[in-house]
Amino acid sequence: MPEMKDPLTGLDRYEGFLKKLEEEITKMDDCRIAIIYTDIKHFKYINDTYGYQRGDDLLKEFVHLLTVNNAHMLCAARVYSDNIVMAVRMTEGRANSDLRDIVYRKNIELENKLHDMFLDRKLKLCSGISIISKDDRRLDAETAVSNANLARKVAKELDEDCCVLFDRQMMEGIKKEVEITSYIPTAIENGEFKVYYQPKIETNTLRIIGAEALVRWQKPDGKFIYPDEFIPVIERSGQIVDVDYYVYREVFKFLRKRLDEGQKVVPISMNVSRVHLNKMGILEYVKSLFEEYKIPSELVEFELTESIYINNTENALQLVEGLHAMGTKVSMDDFGSGYSSLNLLSRLPIDILKLDRVFLKESHLQENDKIIISCVIDMARRLRITSLCEGVETLEQSDYLAQIGCEIQQGYYFSKPIPQIDFEQFVNDSLQTQAMA
Ligand code: C2E
Ligand code: CA
Ligand code: CA
Repeated sequence: MPEMKDPLTGLDRYEGFLKKLEEEITKMDDCRIAIIYTDIKHFKYINDTYGYQRGDDLLKEFVHLLTVNNAHMLCAARVYSDNIVMAVRMTEGRANSDLRDIVYRKNIELENKLHDMFLDRKLKLCSGISIISKDDRRLDAETAVSNANLARKVAKELDEDCCVLFDRQMMEGIKKEVEITSYIPTAIENGEFKVYYQPKIETNTLRIIGAEALVRWQKPDGKFIYPDEFIPVIERSGQIVDVDYYVYREVFKFLRKRLDEGQKVVPISMNVSRVHLNKMGILEYVKSLFEEYKIPSELVEFELTESIYINNTENALQLVEGLHAMGTKVSMDDFGSGYSSLNLLSRLPIDILKLDRVFLKESHLQENDKIIISCVIDMARRLRITSLCEGVETLEQSDYLAQIGCEIQQGYYFSKPIPQIDFEQFVNDSLQTQAMA
C-alpha cells in the first residue's frame, strides 16, 4: 500500500486530500469551504543557499505553523516541493474578502516567525484562495484546487499583494490571454501587424525631424487591437520579441524603399521591450537588418523605457553600448512615468530624453507642472541630452515647450500615429513646404 502521509510534513498525500475534500463538498450544508494554496517565493534560493536540510526544516516549521491549532481546517496536503494546499470551513457570515485579509495577515505573521528562526533575509509567502459555496457544489475538488492555484500564480506576479482571491473575471482574463498568445504566430504570418508612424516635430522650425514606429494589430474583420491591450500580455509570454523584430524589419524595409525611390527620409525610432534584456539577441538581429537593407545608421533610433534602466541597469547599459556601436541613437522613453532615477541620467550614455505625457496631463498647464518640466528640460540641456516632449495636444502646451527650450515635440497636436502611406504624404508635404519657404 502506498504511504498515506507525506513523510516530511506529516500532511496527507495530495490524492488523499482530494478524496477528503470531495467528501466534505458532498456533505456541505450551508457553510462555505475555502481552498488556500500557498507557496514560498524563491524557495529554491533557500535550498541552494542554506542547504537542503535547512530547507526541509523550514518547510516542516512552516507547515506546523500553518496547520497547528487551526480549528477551521478540514484537510491539508503538500502538493509538491513547497506547495501546500489546505481546505478550511468558513465562519458563517464572513465575507470572502475578510478571509483574504485574514490569510494575508497570517502570511505576514508566518513570514516574520520564519525569518526570526531561520534566515538573514526576508522570505515571502504567496497564497491563492478559491471558495466553494453551496451553489457550486458541483464543482469538483480538483477544479477548486486548480482555481486556488491559478489565483496563487496571479499573486506571485504581483509585487506587493501576495494573496489573491480567485474569481470568474480572473478566469476570463486568463482565457483572453491564452487566446491572444496562441494566435500571435498566425497574426504575424497573416501580416495582421501594421506599423504606424507618429511624426516628431522640431520646435525651432516646426518641421518634421523624425518619427516613432508604433505597432497596430488589425484583425481580419478590420477591428484594431491597441498596444496597451496586447503588449503586456505578449511581454509576459515573451512573444513581444517576435513582434518587435517584425516591426523593425518593416521599418528597415520602408526606409530602403524611400531611399531607392530617391525620396526624403527622416530617422525612425523603434520601441525596445524590456523582455529583450534577458535574451540580448536584439543586437545580432539589428546588425543583420543593417547588413541586409544597407540603411545609414543615423536613420535608425531605439527607445528604451525608463523602467528598463532602473530594473536592470547592467544589461541596459550593455544594450545601449551595443546599439551605439552600430551608430544608432538611443532615447530614454517615458521619463517621469515611474520612479525616475535622476542619478541614472548622468550614468547612462543616452542621446534623447523623452518626457512622458504625464507632465502635460492638463491642457492648461499648472504652475507647479511648469516648474518641473522646465527644470527637467534644463537638466537635459546641461547634460547635453536632446529633450523631447510626448503627448503634446494643444497650442498652449506647444508654445510653452518652445519657450523653455524643449527641442522636439510629439503629440496629437501635430499628428496622431498614421499608416505608412499617410506618413509618406506627411513627410513629403512637410519637407516640401520647408523647401519653398
Ligand atoms: P509609448 O512608446 O510611450 O508610445 C506613445 C503612445 O502615446 C502611443 O500609444 C501614442 O499613440 C500615444 N500618443 C502619442 N501622442 C499622444 C497625445 O498627444 N495624446 C495622447 N493621449 N496619447 C498620445 P500607442 O501607440 O497606443 O502605444 C502604447 C504603448 O505601447 C507605447 O507607449 C509603447 O510602450 C508600446 N508599443 C507600441 N508599439 C510598440 C512596439 O512596436 N514595440 C514595443 N515593444 N512596444 C510598443
Ligand atoms: Ca516609445
Ligand atoms: Ca513614451
